[in-house]
Amino acid sequence: MNDELFDLYQQMILDHGKRPRNFGEREDAEHSASGHNPLCGDKCRVHLDLDGDRIDRVGFDGEGCAISTASASLMTEAVKGLTLEEAADLFERLHRLVTEGEGADDPRLGKLAVFSGVRRFPLRVKCATLAWHTLIAALDGRNETVRTEA
Ligand code: ZN
Repeated sequence: MNDELFDLYQQMILDHGKRPRNFGEREDAEHSASGHNPLCGDKCRVHLDLDGDRIDRVGFDGEGCAISTASASLMTEAVKGLTLEEAADLFERLHRLVTEGEGADDPRLGKLAVFSGVRRFPLRVKCATLAWHTLIAALDGRNETVRTEA
């Protein structure tokens, strides 16, 4: 990764960390789950509605570091409109990116490629994946075919 790209990624993480999209509490969501990353102290709650088998309205609230907040924010943008299987597949791709550094140029990841640098900071991997684990937990309550992390 060149410096220019790294700076761009840093800026996007800071931007979403400071001004998260789809952020706010919601009591009337069809599905929700809570996540906690004790290593860093990140807490998040993901709530969503489904339209058929597609994720329709999705958001989150909670408190966490810039990486966990940015990850949750970018996740809500990335999974809106996806089916449950597509969302689980996207999470697997992201997980491979942040743990093994694979797929930084995968077009399916899109903006989520900003987390490629997280691989160099193993303690941050849980920050970058917390919202995703929470999303899967929320979806799992409804559909047993959703795959959790292996
Ligand atoms: Zn964190």
